[in-house]
Amino acid sequence: MKLLSVLFAASCAARAGAERTQEAHAPREPTTPRAADASLLVGTATRDCTGPSTEYLFMGMANPSQHGQGLWTRQFARAFVFVGDGGSRAAFVSVDNAMIGHVLKSRVLAKVGDALGDNATYTYENVVLSGTHTHSAASGFLQHVIFQLAGSGYLPETVEALASGVAEALVAAHVDATNKTATMRVATSQLRNASASRSPSAYLLNPADERAAYDGDVDTDFTLLRIDDAATGDLRAVATWFAVHPTSMNNTNGLVSSDNKGLASVLLERVLNPGAAPGRGAVPAAFCSANLGDATPNIVGAFCRDTGEPCDVDTSTCPGASPWPWSNATLMRNEQCSSVGPGRDMFDSCAIIAGRQVDEAAALLAGDNFADLSSRIRVAHAFVEMPGRAVVDWETGAPLGKLCDAAMGQSFAAGTIDGPGQFDFSQNSTSPNPLWKLAARVLHKSTPAQAACQAPKTILIPTGSMATPHAWAPSVLPVQLLDLGGLVLAAVPTEMTAMAGRRVKRMLRAKFGDETAVVVAGLSNEYADYTATFEEYQAQRYEGGSTIYGPHQLDAYLAILADLADAVLGGDPVDPGPMPDDFSADIWAWGEKKPSEETPPDGANFGDQLAASWDAAARNLTASFVGGDLKHDLKHGGTYLEVQRAAGDGWATVFVDGDPETRIRLSVVKHGFLDRHHYLNATISAELAAAGTYRVLYHGNAYVDGKVVAFTGTSANATVV
Ligand SMILES: [Zn+2]
Repeated sequence: MKLLSVLFAASCAARAGAERTQEAHAPREPTTPRAADASLLVGTATRDCTGPSTEYLFMGMANPSQHGQGLWTRQFARAFVFVGDGGSRAAFVSVDNAMIGHVLKSRVLAKVGDALGDNATYTYENVVLSGTHTHSAASGFLQHVIFQLAGSGYLPETVEALASGVAEALVAAHVDATNKTATMRVATSQLRNASASRSPSAYLLNPADERAAYDGDVDTDFTLLRIDDAATGDLRAVATWFAVHPTSMNNTNGLVSSDNKGLASVLLERVLNPGAAPGRGAVPAAFCSANLGDATPNIVGAFCRDTGEPCDVDTSTCPGASPWPWSNATLMRNEQCSSVGPGRDMFDSCAIIAGRQVDEAAALLAGDNFADLSSRIRVAHAFVEMPGRAVVDWETGAPLGKLCDAAMGQSFAAGTIDGPGQFDFSQNSTSPNPLWKLAARVLHKSTPAQAACQAPKTILIPTGSMATPHAWAPSVLPVQLLDLGGLVLAAVPTEMTAMAGRRVKRMLRAKFGDETAVVVAGLSNEYADYTATFEEYQAQRYEGGSTIYGPHQLDAYLAILADLADAVLGGDPVDPGPMPDDFSADIWAWGEKKPSEETPPDGANFGDQLAASWDAAARNLTASFVGGDLKHDLKHGGTYLEVQRAAGDGWATVFVDGDPETRIRLSVVKHGFLDRHHYLNATISAELAAAGTYRVLYHGNAYVDGKVVAFTGTSANATVV
């Protein structure tokens, strides 16, 4: 299926949904007295938080060759501010990013405090920042060493790009909430064709009677929050939670992308905000991360790239030759095993998985299966010292054991079927990333006590006891609960598996009532890897190997969240806990690349067109230009390109760089004596459905004589029939 047809299908479905929704709820009889709702104010805003899109490694796949080479879709922060009874306040921001870190949240809160002249309105306690978990955006925003290893180290420019965009969204949502009375409703359905388990053998270790309560190894809960104007009934905002990894774009992708979650947002927002460019519409539609730990969007299955045979199901490996020249043995190796999406390529797969989420949202918006939410906004939050914590069963109080010092298991190095085998220290000894070399040197054996605590995990890296040059893993984690008028949101700094998330939801329903809508907001506020159930942990697949505090980690989260629930429900307040360290100011940003002088070829200027072509079969227009690095200017709220169509006497812009129909890809071209000079070839492509006369504008920047200069290149006109 081509992107265009998916876009069209999604847009039709959502448009039909939106129209029917208007009909459905305009004449709707008020079923409950709405007097209380008058006290609910909701503000929303979307802002650009795109990071540097060239040169740096992406965060997520830990692939030392997955450098940024340009942009497919932009990263946005979608902010929601809720002000309820008695002025009680909460904020939720869904961020098109791999995850959130404590440093990032601290910077956002500081910026918001500065902008409002008030540090008390938005705090660690009442603000949730949740990453969508795209694996195709710049790394460098996490302070712990293990996560620097997975990317290009620590990059202040990535932190600033994200923090400024997220803070602007939050401030704008705050202003928007000032006078916007709202009603909120929630609906839940099952979306069954957009995710698959990537560790089905581990899931089967969960108790049979527990598994019997669910319809499979994938958590298909699709939860939609709609916010309407209390006075007019107009739809003001949508947020959905559904558990699937945004890894439709695989570890060969070099273009910054918000993956299937961000694409779903752009597609639904296009319908809800006709004519608005991506991220500029008044009605946001956030597609947020949930308990996606073992949920892959690559639903066709895991196959050996070389033979086409299915991978071994327990180990996700394929038979391969021994790496040793003297051996004829066949070894089971992970490098060739990778999962396949439903499309003909990763862009197509991304569009299909996005389209299915959009269709589900549109169907819910068009239906009438909503439960009213109230104006009661409640929050609870704790910073929790994890290593050494005594864990008790949340229901019985029975002691279960202790949390361990953080450690990554052997299976962590093997990766997953979404990104196989990139964390192999032996293979990466030749990487330009100096942290890889440091890792190989400082890797030390775990103690017998650590090994016993983590059993049956075989410890690969005892990150919790490694502090050179800084802490390798977090020890204090934020755990948070929001009650948005009856939609309960567990914000956790981890990737919970399907069953782990189901246990959290079951516990919270036991606390708040069976009919309560509950979601796990994953990748929130800080990042501390995965959370598998105790039983799944025994299998030590990737998710279990990455459950860093040992076998009782999920039970610890359950007990902490149960305490937060009790506090929200009027019980004893929880211990706020110790503020995590922020040592980001001490980190050497070795990975940061200073701009280098760019020079156009002899006789040419920046912005000159180098080539252009029209592929009629693919309906793809391409133009390339003499350009410079995109990192010179992130163009938040702007665009690197415009695709324009002749209209009357002038030109109308039909696409900008955030539109999924366009891509911009950069490559270095060396020239001059001994190749001493370079410029970047900026190739812009656009998928065009409609006939017409088109041209492409390239809004570039170059580094000339120590300064960043701006220029615009214009392609020759192209006739598309
Ligand atoms: Zn993940």
